Amino acid sequence: MIYRLHRAFIKALMLLLAISGGLINLCSAEETRDFTLQDIQQHDALLAEVNALTPGDKLKWYRQQIENNSGPTEFYWLNRAFALELLKQGDLQSIKPICSQSKPLDQDFLYRHGCLEASEPSYSDYQIEMQSIIFEAQNSEQNSIAARLFRNLAWRQSQEGDFGAAFTSYETALEIVPSDDSDLVNSLLFDSASNYIAHGDDAYVERGVKLLNRVRKNYEELLAVAETDDDRKHLTLQIQFAYFNIGVAHILHLYQYDKALDAFKKVNNANNALSANSLTYSALAAANLSRIDEAQGFLQRAKKERDGDPVFDQYLSCYRHLAEYFWNKNVSFEPCFNLYDNTSVEVKIDIYKRLSDVQNKEVQIFALEQLKALFVNVLEPKLRSRASAAASNLELKRLQRESELKSLVLEKEQQLNIAKNARFTAQRNFFIALFFILLFFLLLVYFQFRQKRQLAEQYHQMSFRDSLTQLGNRRLLEHNVQRELATVSRNIQQGKTSALGIFIFDIDHFKQINDTYGHNVGDEVLQQLSRRIHSTIRETDLLVRWGGEEFVCLAQVEDKSQTLDIANRILKVVNSVDFMVGDGLELPVSCTIGIVQYPFVDTDNQESWTRLISLADSALYYGKSLGRDCWVMIENVAVSSYQEVEELLTKPLAETINKGIVTVTSSKPDLNKEELN
Ligand code: GH3
Ligand code: MG
Ligand code: MG
Repeated sequence: MIYRLHRAFIKALMLLLAISGGLINLCSAEETRDFTLQDIQQHDALLAEVNALTPGDKLKWYRQQIENNSGPTEFYWLNRAFALELLKQGDLQSIKPICSQSKPLDQDFLYRHGCLEASEPSYSDYQIEMQSIIFEAQNSEQNSIAARLFRNLAWRQSQEGDFGAAFTSYETALEIVPSDDSDLVNSLLFDSASNYIAHGDDAYVERGVKLLNRVRKNYEELLAVAETDDDRKHLTLQIQFAYFNIGVAHILHLYQYDKALDAFKKVNNANNALSANSLTYSALAAANLSRIDEAQGFLQRAKKERDGDPVFDQYLSCYRHLAEYFWNKNVSFEPCFNLYDNTSVEVKIDIYKRLSDVQNKEVQIFALEQLKALFVNVLEPKLRSRASAAASNLELKRLQRESELKSLVLEKEQQLNIAKNARFTAQRNFFIALFFILLFFLLLVYFQFRQKRQLAEQYHQMSFRDSLTQLGNRRLLEHNVQRELATVSRNIQQGKTSALGIFIFDIDHFKQINDTYGHNVGDEVLQQLSRRIHSTIRETDLLVRWGGEEFVCLAQVEDKSQTLDIANRILKVVNSVDFMVGDGLELPVSCTIGIVQYPFVDTDNQESWTRLISLADSALYYGKSLGRDCWVMIENVAVSSYQEVEELLTKPLAETINKGIVTVTSSKPDLNKEELN
């Protein structure tokens, strides 16, 4: 199954604790206490003492220190750290009294979250309270914490079967997470991908696979520059996790066994709990492809390895028997009849579905009965509990996403009808048929929604993406630019400092790369450059391929220094490390960037963006004339209308600068007005 979502949850809690240790958020003063979070932070030095202890000793240490505490801030610090440690160790009961003897400060979002978990609230209370904590965290610009809390919320939503809401929470977390927090970005991508795969329809599973490939590449890039053995070990394991989950998506959800095998191949030699799983799945995939020798080889290796968790080992044993069935029709399915109750629904559905294809009526009946029980006990109650809310569009969307799970049950209808004629008693047939007919009508409605959405999505994908770089294209920018400009105008009207950085950049001497190494190498450079730049800007920035080897990026900024910061990052991510292309070729690449900021003249004329791009383009070509590998920014001095912008576009930039109508700044230190003559 998707490898231990519950482990991912524990990891999330550990991360929360880690930031709580060093970086207690620095916030405004709390009215009801005479200390603030900033005061509390002074006690962080104690962490060095406690971090070296074993988990059990840590708890003892906290208890002792709380008894001997010397002052109110230290008392609060100790209670808070104790509660977060208990949360990490999963002991919710012991947290409750701590939260009542030392109530969390309003701004202490992590501790508030810990106390909320400890109060074991109902699902709806949990959602309401989490949303308000997250809202406040975002308002205090604690986006990293807000993103982590969104992940906890998504976890609970997913546990409750509320997958639509969980997907939305993950998406929001990814929107707000600071892009420089790469650990958090990667682990969020990983968790949301795992959820899409475990609970989404085919389109979501495919999207999950894409995200996993993206995380895997991120980790591979980090691995290439990792400095310690510990880092290398950790990153290698993350890469294996990603491959493993890609394999699971293909074998349990998409039934693409060759792709599943390719992914598991990367994990099979890991010699850990993960490889015990992947060898078994490899055997099953090879057997399904009728590659029996290969399947037998995997099976032999799989039998020698153990996951260590009895729930996993039980169903892995079942999968090994399902693989063996391909060459030994007399194999017993005993392990499959005794799966643990807490085996994931994802695995149960898959196993019972496979068992119902076995040519043995008793096994088939057992499997179909289990599928029915799953539907009646697990899927249908969830459907019903939300039927009342289904009137809202949002809810309909969620139901659509769940339809994939339900469609598995539908598929069984046909097989069930065949088995019915031969074996089942008339009464059982009657009830089962009735049950599926009802289900069929329900699904019909869901399928219509799903189909519409898929068509719309396909169209959207085709018309707004550039197929070489996978970035958006010019149309995507045209589609979104008004919204970006309107956001800035609104911000300014509300008295905030706000601007839109408009960057156009072009690879230096690209024609030479094409001419020397061939068009394919040129294409690879374009792809790698897109990935590098994408990784250095925020998820919310809009990066598109403008045409050929030119790109445009729009970024919401507060001021010029932020704009220049982005430009410097783009230059650096391109020119600091050589590109690896073709057969091990290392190629230095650079680019030149032209920049303007909106508003250039005023905020009212949002139609004028094309002129601003042309202006940025003049800056770009000016940068080329300065010797390339630099940025050039044009700023307004005496232009008062877009009419005048139009006019100055018809003249050489040097002339306009000399007349003092605009100024330019550049990363080239020797930019000098005299030279312009
Ligand atoms: P400069 O530093 O002045 O920008 O020099 P340059 O050689 O990069 O400038 P120029 O605009 O003359 O060259 C752009 C080249 O990009 C020409 C064109 O063949 C190539 N090109 C455009 N689109 C693609 C593409 O999709 N793939 C590849 N490989 N090359 C492309
Ligand atoms: Mg060029
Ligand atoms: Mg060009």
